[in-house]
Amino acid sequence: MNRTMQAAVVERYGQPLAMREVAVPVVGPGEVLIRTEACGVCHTDLHCASGDFPVKATLPFIPGHEGIGLVVAIGVGVSGVKEGDRVGVPWLYSACGHCEYCLAAWESVCANAEFGGYTKNGGFAEYILADPDYVARIPTGLAAAEAAPLICAGITTYKGIKVTEARPGEWVVVSGAGGLGHLAVQYAKAMGLHVCAVDIDDGKLAHATRLGADVVVNALQGDPVDAVVKATSGGAHGVLITAPSLVAFNQGVRMTRKRGTCALIGLPPGDIALPLFDVVANCITIRGSFVGNRADMAECLAFAAEGKVKADIELQPLSAINTVFDRLKRGDVPSRVVIDFLGQ
Ligand code: NAD
Ligand code: ZN
Ligand code: ZN
Repeated sequence: MNRTMQAAVVERYGQPLAMREVAVPVVGPGEVLIRTEACGVCHTDLHCASGDFPVKATLPFIPGHEGIGLVVAIGVGVSGVKEGDRVGVPWLYSACGHCEYCLAAWESVCANAEFGGYTKNGGFAEYILADPDYVARIPTGLAAAEAAPLICAGITTYKGIKVTEARPGEWVVVSGAGGLGHLAVQYAKAMGLHVCAVDIDDGKLAHATRLGADVVVNALQGDPVDAVVKATSGGAHGVLITAPSLVAFNQGVRMTRKRGTCALIGLPPGDIALPLFDVVANCITIRGSFVGNRADMAECLAFAAEGKVKADIELQPLSAINTVFDRLKRGDVPSRVVIDFLGQ
């Protein structure tokens, strides 16, 4: 095995990632080492590298929380994962396993959770250490690059739809039709929902239509809230706001039907003002939604293994990471870029 590896490293917040030759991590007890085959580039990686979050990671760190690869080394005491297994190292890198949230399968809010590609080094590197109890098990037949976006964008939108409690035949709005949104549209259709996609880019909306969206609304043309309320005869039963834009949050709340649920998913820095009277008098639920638990992970991957959901991917080498970040900032990534470690 190589003793060093290529990695893209955040050395200072807000600066381009540095391409470095770093030591391949050594597995400790209870850990596994993965040789990375593919890693998706999530908008969260950009927030992490920009220092957007109130919780700061210790510098330097290697981002990437959609890393998929083969297990190549196993630490002492590991069972349940073996060499050669294809696994993913998600944002929820590990959790304590015994707090009130872990016991209730809400490990994503465990106070002692570690985050892949943030508080633990992630998949923008040729090797990744992982906690075998929290890796995503990739179904046979799903290629690494196709699986990559599912372990963050997929699980997050699948779980987001579930927490809205929208039922088959009802309406869901997907605000932001990018990396997360293009999967949200597909999960929602596979779950029997009517979908209205909202974005500010006609290309992304045309793609949402190809993926099954029943209605699309460009938020820069006219009043998008009016357009959604009309198209859905009173607002959507469930709204998912994946857009990294504060204005989309306010609009999304106003697109929610009476008694409906608006799931807040995007993570732009800042605060939002709510139309308080409308939220109260219309009995609207507003809830945050943060990735998902390990059962959600298995379920969201099963949709893809059954051919009901397919990530739309563009492969790029690790050396292109800063260009990909610039494109993400400009909204210039059609769906998901996946860093390909096999072709380079
Ligand atoms: P992306 O850049 O691929 O997609 C964002 C989309 O939003 C783009 O299509 C863009 O055109 C669109 N958009 C921008 N402004 C808009 C507006 N005003 N109205 C409607 N659409 C608008 O990003 P992504 O990887 O899909 O991530 C989206 C957000 O979700 C990020 O903030 C990310 O950090 C967050 N995220 C949250 C979780 C979670 O668990 N809650 C998980 C993953 C990502
Ligand atoms: Zn992500
Ligand atoms: Zn816990």
